[in-house]
Amino acid sequence: MNISNFRKYAHQVADWMADYYEHIEQYPVLAQVKPKEIYEQIPENPPQRGESFESIFADFQQVIMKGMTHWQHPSFFAYFNANASPPSVLAEMLIATMGAQCMIWQTSPSAAELEERMMEWLAQMCEIPADFHGVIQDTASTATLCALLCARERYTNYQINEKGFANSPRFTAYCSEETHSSIEKDIKIAGLGKENLRKIPTDEAFAMLPEQLEEAIKKDLALGLTPLFVTATIGSTSSTAIDPLRKIGEVCKKYQIWLHVDAAYAGNAMILPEKRYMIDGVELADSYLFNPHKWLLTNFDCTAFYVKDKGNLIRTFEILPEYLKTKNDQVVNNYRDWGIQLGRRFRALKLWFVLRTYGVEGLQNILRTHLQLANYFAEQLFKNPDFELIAPISLNLVCFRYKPAHVQDEQVLEVINKKIMDNLNASGKVFLTHTKLRGIFTLRVVIGQTFVNQSHVDNLLALINAQIEK
Ligand SMILES: *Cc1c(COP(=O)(O)O)cnc(C)c1O
Repeated sequence: MNISNFRKYAHQVADWMADYYEHIEQYPVLAQVKPKEIYEQIPENPPQRGESFESIFADFQQVIMKGMTHWQHPSFFAYFNANASPPSVLAEMLIATMGAQCMIWQTSPSAAELEERMMEWLAQMCEIPADFHGVIQDTASTATLCALLCARERYTNYQINEKGFANSPRFTAYCSEETHSSIEKDIKIAGLGKENLRKIPTDEAFAMLPEQLEEAIKKDLALGLTPLFVTATIGSTSSTAIDPLRKIGEVCKKYQIWLHVDAAYAGNAMILPEKRYMIDGVELADSYLFNPHKWLLTNFDCTAFYVKDKGNLIRTFEILPEYLKTKNDQVVNNYRDWGIQLGRRFRALKLWFVLRTYGVEGLQNILRTHLQLANYFAEQLFKNPDFELIAPISLNLVCFRYKPAHVQDEQVLEVINKKIMDNLNASGKVFLTHTKLRGIFTLRVVIGQTFVNQSHVDNLLALINAQIEK
């Protein structure tokens, strides 16, 4: 493709992008395709000769679009959002155009220095303590793995990095029963072993019980094990439960255990002063993360990862082969040494575009609107006493089920609620997902898409009510 064609097609694609956002509500939110339906439409063999952009773009529109689930649809109420926004997408286009690989300062000083500033901006916006140092990671899963490796290496004075596990203590780690599955995955990858992860029981609001945490630690110590790592979750994935950070932090201090805070989703709400009580005690943490790619209008991927001890982070990941040495290594951040991957995308540009376009107040307004809409949804839904609230509403996620007075059997209730969800999702008009809370099949509605407004919530309520009238 020559540059003059690139220019022409880029304009076409830009028009398509604007049309997409303008007409997004015409698409089914959840892709309505059967397994392998798309696969079978893609030829078995790659083309020997190049094809025209016209035919590629036509297939994109006809084949690929049919199998897309539309995360930017305002009636996307599933999982947690992965919000994009126009300025974020524009930045992403520029990033892709330059295709810079930002592994060290020299490979694009702007990328390194903008990242440093953006992490400072986010820390200010969220009142993350000023002595925390931030770096962008791809996902929360990776950031937690980094934290775990830092803890492991700090404890062993970097000996597992050197010698492997031969003489290592048997470590244990702790999280609540409601902690995200990525913690368990990371425990496996970091070599701690899944059976050494203790899942601490939760209270009626699904928050970790700090007394139980301390009990578990004492028990492990008595067995000669080495408690290494605690994850406190601020905003659990099932129900946005808030673990009591300060109390957990005090336990960690007492036993000198690494405290990691997973605020992947709820961390975005820390831009709202009225929600910051949720991270009271954050100064006791060793590491902290949240995902601007979920709720801060910065398209996937972008995780903000903070550590208190920058030297420990760098020492854990540092490599310095001859071919990567530069004369500036002492004065600049080479983010290759701040995480797992060598090559890095220029993600800070997306944040910069988003934070400048909306401003802190603009973002606060959007998040507050989502919180209000979630309250409105709950108010309307629970006017009908046959709907049961399953978990406290701490942010913009409502966990509920339909429980008509005459049905008591848990199995039957599960079937009824599953059917409601499947029917709603099959309509293509809305998309919501479920979880289990203490074994109860629970519907989750997250009201947090960039473009959601009250009409979408009213529509969702009407669709739910139509289901139960059947
Ligand atoms: C979404 C989520 C994660 C995982 O996020 P990724 O960035 O996809 O790895 C981890 N923890 C919590 C609490 C989450 O909500």
